[in-house]
Amino acid sequence: MAAETHDFDLAGLRLSAGEGRRLDLDVRIEPLLLGGEPYAAAPARVPVTLDVSRMMGGGYALLLRFTAALQGPCMRCLNHAAPSVEVESREVDRPGGGEELQSPYVHDEVLDVATWARDAFALAAPVKVLCREDCQGLCPVCAADLNEAPPGHHHDPEPDRRWAKLSELKLE
Ligand SMILES: [Zn+2]
Ligand SMILES: [Zn+2]
Repeated sequence: MAAETHDFDLAGLRLSAGEGRRLDLDVRIEPLLLGGEPYAAAPARVPVTLDVSRMMGGGYALLLRFTAALQGPCMRCLNHAAPSVEVESREVDRPGGGEELQSPYVHDEVLDVATWARDAFALAAPVKVLCREDCQGLCPVCAADLNEAPPGHHHDPEPDRRWAKLSELKLE
């Protein structure tokens, strides 16, 4: 198994201007907090593809791609959910090229690939994490899992409290 990469030394590739290299790395992606719940990336070490191109005139153009599952509770029914998230993220780092051309993940030609992967994973994550697209969620009255309840699960509306009092009176 390849070693886990946190920081990657771009200078160590010794690319000349216009040259590129594709790398397969394993990156550990820290769990995301969504709606106060932790969601873990799976597998624990995510295989990522990193394309590094050394630009003419200095600096790097970077492309990071991977697919990972986002594991945690379904936001509707609380069962296990693990939707697959596809990530494709680009960064450019060109020292002296102005603020937009300085990647926050590159410092002195060292790429913080772990932080980049986590941020890109968070951006690509669905707003609602569901066990499946058409999850029925929980019954708002009795909290039964409506994916498993027989179809047509419902409750009669609660009787009006005043009527309840009246029927008590009648019993006396
Ligand atoms: Zn669900
Ligand atoms: Zn119910």
